[in-house]
Amino acid sequence: MLDSLIEMTCALGQPQMDYVVVGEGNTSFRDDDVFWIKASGQGMNNIAAEGFVAMRFAPILDLLDHSHTDSTRIQDAMMAAKVEPSTPQRPSVEVTFHAALLADCNVKYIGHTHPIAVNRLMCSTRAEQFALNRLFPDEAVLCGPRSVFVPYLDPGLPLAHGIRQRVGNYMDEFGEAPKVILLANHGLIALGQTPAEILNVTAMCVKAAHIFAGACAVGEPVFMSQADIAHIYKRPDEIYRRARFVQK
Ligand SMILES: [Zn+2]
Repeated sequence: MLDSLIEMTCALGQPQMDYVVVGEGNTSFRDDDVFWIKASGQGMNNIAAEGFVAMRFAPILDLLDHSHTDSTRIQDAMMAAKVEPSTPQRPSVEVTFHAALLADCNVKYIGHTHPIAVNRLMCSTRAEQFALNRLFPDEAVLCGPRSVFVPYLDPGLPLAHGIRQRVGNYMDEFGEAPKVILLANHGLIALGQTPAEILNVTAMCVKAAHIFAGACAVGEPVFMSQADIAHIYKRPDEIYRRARFVQK
């Protein structure tokens, strides 16, 4: 199982994808009450098993539930959460949102990247407009009827709280987890059941970002209607296609 997380992480980290550079981005995988997450300071494109840390959910979810902000308390919780306390690796600073999403959303894999095409929108006044709309059918099919948009928040607990609240609102409205979360001035989070789904959702979101930027360059983007999005997302033949894309 760790092999599939390693393979997915290396694929997201390939330099030609323009998704991450240096130590950017992180990935995780849930295995019952434990999850594996990229360790702090690791590059994604050539990561190996030593680049990941196994963590328990309970101490981290407790931090989130009780809104502890004391830095000693946070460090203690991180140590308590490590399945092997003696391993030198520290989990990514974004471990809190990974724990929250893996626990709340019933997904197995998360891929968080900072793609250039997406971040040039996230660093613009068009960030929310891109997140809340759909331009073409395959974007709606793979990335979901809408992305969750999160304004800029400090990485760590503040960002995890902000993501958790907005993802909760999305799940109340749609009755299922989102596929894409877009973070203003920061990046993209893809959620899925398989590594293939993470790679496909990330690639489609990046393609949509390129198209959106192009549409803005030649005029105003023309979005799909909510009725057309809902129709294509629920069509049986599209559900079949989506299930085929997810298999691996
Ligand atoms: Zn990030």
